[in-house]
Order: sequence, then structure tokens, then C-alpha cells
Amino acid sequence: MEFFSLLSENKTYLNCVHCGKCLPVCPSYNIGFNEFLSPRGRVRIVLTDYTDSIPLRAGKVRESMSACLLCGRCEKVCPNDVNIVELVINEKIKLEEFSNKSFSSGKLALNILKNKREILLKTALKIANIPLVKKLSGRNSPMPEGKSFIGSRDLIFNADTSLEKQPSQFQALKNGKAMRKSAVEDSKNIFKVGYFSGCVFNGIYPQISVDTVTSLTKNGVEVFVPKMQGCCGLPFISSGDLKSFKELAVNNALAFKGKKLDYIVTSCASCSYSINKLYPKYFNENDENYTEILDFSKKLISIWSFFNELKKHGFEIKKGKLNNETEAVFHIPCHLSNMPDFKPASAYEKLIGEPGLIADKIEGLKLKPLKYNYCCGNGGMFNVRHYDLSKKITKRKFEEIKEAAPQEILTSCSGCIFSLKDQSGILKHSQSIPVNHLIGIYARSLRS
Ligand code: SF4
Ligand code: SF4
Repeated sequence: MEFFSLLSENKTYLNCVHCGKCLPVCPSYNIGFNEFLSPRGRVRIVLTDYTDSIPLRAGKVRESMSACLLCGRCEKVCPNDVNIVELVINEKIKLEEFSNKSFSSGKLALNILKNKREILLKTALKIANIPLVKKLSGRNSPMPEGKSFIGSRDLIFNADTSLEKQPSQFQALKNGKAMRKSAVEDSKNIFKVGYFSGCVFNGIYPQISVDTVTSLTKNGVEVFVPKMQGCCGLPFISSGDLKSFKELAVNNALAFKGKKLDYIVTSCASCSYSINKLYPKYFNENDENYTEILDFSKKLISIWSFFNELKKHGFEIKKGKLNNETEAVFHIPCHLSNMPDFKPASAYEKLIGEPGLIADKIEGLKLKPLKYNYCCGNGGMFNVRHYDLSKKITKRKFEEIKEAAPQEILTSCSGCIFSLKDQSGILKHSQSIPVNHLIGIYARSLRS
């Protein structure tokens, strides 16, 4: 069985000495201090499960594994390099294989995502936003912002300012015509990149995709956006659905194949985690599109790493200016990672890592530090399946945000934006704090 061959490759759980160094950083453990929901508890469960010395009920195992946010915070502090995330994912795959549960709200959400039924997704979100539904469910889903970003055909955006010159950005993005021949016909694009939007920045917050493309084209970069791309697959593998994850991965890799791109850029930390870290782990030489998957995974970098690459190549990143001075905090997503050779130089780079380069380019932006940089509580499908736990973690996050008293909350991940916008029951409506992607405020400063 495929699962057991996966498990045999990850024996790091045998290195766990139960020292507990991972406990203080684990968001699921810190909510109720339940050892079952801790990293070392999960190791213990898996060990017990495979040795069969004390048979555990599948329900208990499932509960513990599904309440893991796959944030990877435990791995960053573990002295013995125990790979908890992989362990939990493998366990979920096994549980899914033995599951005969044909319906759940999580499965429904996954099916909508997989089939790219954006109208269905948006309708579901709209229904979830009806006050009575919100009250009955106790949830507060953020509203979708507008039309989808990805077009019905491949789009190319040239290095210019034409995105702002269009009467309707989304219309221009849809027809793609005005983009092909830019206002700056003779501009020399310094790089040609692909843009991987991810499903949330396509269907729910498409403005962030527009802002990402704007930031790139205004820095002289040509951007290719294939119509064939879809979800990165993270919600699927984090639900144990390895088959769908692999199907989506192949679809994405083929969408960018053979386009002679210098890089493929994403503005979502979770998408880059999925593509950079998980694609190579869950494919092997026996998979039909193994080479394409590896090429795609190697070429994809975060928008912040890409701007740092530009800087390394000697290009000056454009400065922008905000109309009004803004004090903000930057929530560092659990899945955001810097390039291995990144050396923070400026104060903002020391504070938030690679995104600090862009924060430095925004005149009028003042970043305030967050004391602990807790997890936001999203965890992808964790937010769907364990909404109450997720909300408790978000509430804790807002303790440090309230202390910093920012005018805006900035971040760099679709899941984090989703949870940070869900402020009902945490802040009074009159005190709500706008949430944006850092690339959004950068694009705003370039337009000012
Ligand atoms: S820090 Fe590592 S070795 Fe220590 S309990 Fe956690 S997983 Fe085990
Ligand atoms: S990945 Fe995150 S939620 Fe899961 S065990 Fe590690 S720290 Fe806890």
C-alpha cells in the first residue's frame, strides 16, 4: 500500500525523546494543554498505533491528527529533527484510506475547491455571511471581494502601468488583450515570471492577485498567468486525500510547463509551503509527471524571495509612498520561509525577514513589533473542521495585536488573512482592524 511505503521513509519520530521542548510553541496544545493535541503526544499515538501494544480507537487518533494545524512550529524547535508534519500527514492519509465516511462539511468544501466551482464557493460564502446563518453556526466567514482573477485564457502582463489605466481591472484581466501590448512598448522586461495565484487569491481575494501583478509589472517584470492552474492541494493532503493532492499538483505543474520562465512566483505562504516542501516529498520516480513536478517546485518562490533575487541581481526595487502614514503590524505566517542564503540587513528585515525589503520601500509605513508572533489559528482545513479551537487560537493572536494597537494588520498568506479578518467575538465591530497583504499596501503605495 502506498501509505506504508511513505511511512517507512519517515522514521524521524523514533528520535523523539519526549523532552517537551515543542510544547510551548504548539498552538493546538496551548489551547487546553491536552497532551493528546501536542507534538510529542502525536508521536506517542503513532508509535502506539504501529506497535499495537495499546490499540487506540481510530476516533481518538483522528481527533488528535485532525487538530494539528500543520504549522511546523514544533519542527523549528525540536532538537532531534522529528518531522511531525510529515508524520501527521501520513497518519491522515492512512485514516482517509480506511475511512468510509462519505459526507462531511470538510469533504463538501474540498469538493467545491477541487472542481473549481467558484460560483458555488462564493455562493457558499455569501450564505455563510447571512446574519442569521452566522448566528446559528457561530462562524464569521469573510466575504468574497469580486470576480475571479484567473482568466478564461492564458494572460501575459507586460512591464508597465496599464493595470491602473483600465476602467475595470477585472475586466482587463479577463479579456487580457490590453495587457499583451503594453503602454511601454520598448520596455525591457528584466525577468519573465509565472504567477501562481492559489485558489483563495483567485476566487475570494482576487485584489491580492491584482496587487501582486501590479507590484511586479511596475518593477519591470513580465508576468504570465496560465488559466489552467488551480488549488495547490494543501487542503487535500492535510485532509489525507493524497490522490486529489497529486492530481492538483500535476495540473499546476503542467500549466507552467515549457513557458521559459525565470521563476514562478506566489504571494501565498501556504501555497509555497505546499509546492516547495510537499510536492517533492509525495512524488517519486514512479510517478508519470515526476520531472515536471520537480521543475515546478524548484522554480516556485515567494514574492519576497523574488524581490530579494532582483536586489541580488543589482536591480533597484521601486519605492512607493502612502497618502497617509500608517502604523501596522506584520503577522509572520507559520509557512513563510526565507531563502537559505538570506541575511537580514535592515531593521524591518530583522523584524519580519525577507518581506522587510518591501516594507522598507513603502514611505509612510511604520511597522510595529508583535511580542510573540503567535499562530493565527487558521491551519487550512483545521479552521473548517475545528472552528471553535481555531477561533480560540485567533483570539490569543489578537491579544498581542491589541497590545501593538496597529491601524492595519498585514500578512502574507491566504489562510492567515481569512482568520485575521474573522474578528467577530474578538473585537467590537467599531474597533475592527483592516487586514491586508503586505503586497496590497505596497501596490497601494506605488499607485499613490
Ligand atoms: S521537541 Fe522533538 S524530541 Fe522533544 S518532545 Fe517534541 S518532538 Fe519529541
Ligand atoms: S505542526 Fe503545529 S499544531 Fe501540529 S503538532 Fe506541530 S506545532 Fe502543534
